[in-house]
Amino acid sequence: MQDVSATFQQAQIATYNTTNIDELKRTFASGRTKSYEWRVEQLNALTLLIEENSSDIIEALHADLGKCKTEAWLTEIGYSTASITDTVKRLKSWMKPNKISTPMIAQPGKSYTINEPLGVALIIGAWNYPFQLVITPLIAAIAAGNCAVIKPSELSLTTSALLAKLVPKYLDNAAIKVVEGGKDETTELLAQPFDKYFYTGGEQVGRIVMTAAAKHLASVTLELGGKSPCVVDGDTNLDVAIRRIVWGKWMNAGQTCVAPDYVLIEEEYLTDFSQRLIAEIKKQYGKEPSQSKDYGRIINQRHCSRLINYLDGQNVIHGGKHKLDDKFIEPTVVVQPSVDSALMQEEIFGPILPIVTFKSKQKMLDFITSRPKPLAAYVFTSNAKFEADFVEQISAGSVCVNDTSIFMANHDLPFGGVGTSGMGQYHGKAGFDIFSHTKSVMKRSYKFDAPIRYAPFSKLKLMLLKKFS
Ligand code: NAD
Repeated sequence: MQDVSATFQQAQIATYNTTNIDELKRTFASGRTKSYEWRVEQLNALTLLIEENSSDIIEALHADLGKCKTEAWLTEIGYSTASITDTVKRLKSWMKPNKISTPMIAQPGKSYTINEPLGVALIIGAWNYPFQLVITPLIAAIAAGNCAVIKPSELSLTTSALLAKLVPKYLDNAAIKVVEGGKDETTELLAQPFDKYFYTGGEQVGRIVMTAAAKHLASVTLELGGKSPCVVDGDTNLDVAIRRIVWGKWMNAGQTCVAPDYVLIEEEYLTDFSQRLIAEIKKQYGKEPSQSKDYGRIINQRHCSRLINYLDGQNVIHGGKHKLDDKFIEPTVVVQPSVDSALMQEEIFGPILPIVTFKSKQKMLDFITSRPKPLAAYVFTSNAKFEADFVEQISAGSVCVNDTSIFMANHDLPFGGVGTSGMGQYHGKAGFDIFSHTKSVMKRSYKFDAPIRYAPFSKLKLMLLKKFS
């Protein structure tokens, strides 16, 4: 027998989404989201939402990922408010028309570009930074004057529910909506004719989103992941390098899209590096990381099992202990994994760090370039030539020299992948740009109308055209 309640629910979801986007389309058509005042008002309201509810946001992030307060502030709350402050400060200048020179043939005249909003945007977030990954693109969408639907990840369900509760209380309801749900609801949303599709998550769903955008010939941004390599030149300042690697790798229990996925090092430095790495892990998270208030948990048991399976048959030199019911996996170090193993083929996205050795620096670069282009690539070195080779030879979304994820703190650096790690960039002005269409405008004067471009043509006209156009 047909499940009537499921069919009814499905119908409700479909109506709900369709109504939503129709309402948002009407709001956008009214033109009110285009004004500078509306944009700033919404951005300020978003700041208020964050400030007045920061303890609830911290609690939700802790419930979903065991995220500690400092990390919650650094990577989600403070990160989002800093992005708003920066955006509001510079919005007026971003909205100004940009003067462009005009060729002789179109004189007298003037040319300029102006940024106009795309319309109604769909923002789909991932679970690892469940607040920031929908709020930061929303900041960019509002700044550019769009309406938006945000769809937080269903895996981080406490944060998703909190967003669904708070957004309608603070933001313009006819312009900004939250839709909660998983695959079915996202599929419903993707069928709607949005003007912009902005997706953060894995490659496979990225393809689904791109296909959906293609149906409407709409603009699409894909913020994906990949295996971000971390090259360590053993001659560098290893104390600082290791501290920064431990910070970037085990923050959020390794569930960071730009976390160093694996370390590449020359053979001779392996022993020294791994001993000092283990000492630093203990220093930051203690001898019993399960007791550390600063060490997070894996999002769910399914991902926990996926990560534990990676350790099968590997040479684990530190960590490896896990408690499935607590979604806990110790900071774990593996040496010399086979490059064909799942650990070295798939994005780890968890607290396991493999170390792979090479005979020379160039061999490390060749290894990285032989694989799909990563979202981030790291090199720790004091050798200027090697640094230059790395920056020039490695194609990645972002490159960071002598540190790990800290480059994300610079809101002026465009952020996004290349190839399989994504397409399109946001943060700061880049975010404003991807939610805008740069419209070209030329205005001619009636004062003078050179006859050379009009028929009937002559040799003289052609000569003049060649000279002046
Ligand atoms: P996820 O499971 O939360 O999925 C992402 C979104 O896709 C969710 O909102 C989910 O509801 C939706 N979704 C899932 N299946 C779908 C389907 N079949 N059809 C339509 N929508 C669907 O997150 P994930 O995919 O596990 O994310 C992890 C990946 O995201 C990693 O590769 C990571 O590197 C990447 N990531 C990238 C960034 C970045 O900024 N580039 C940030 C965070 C995570």
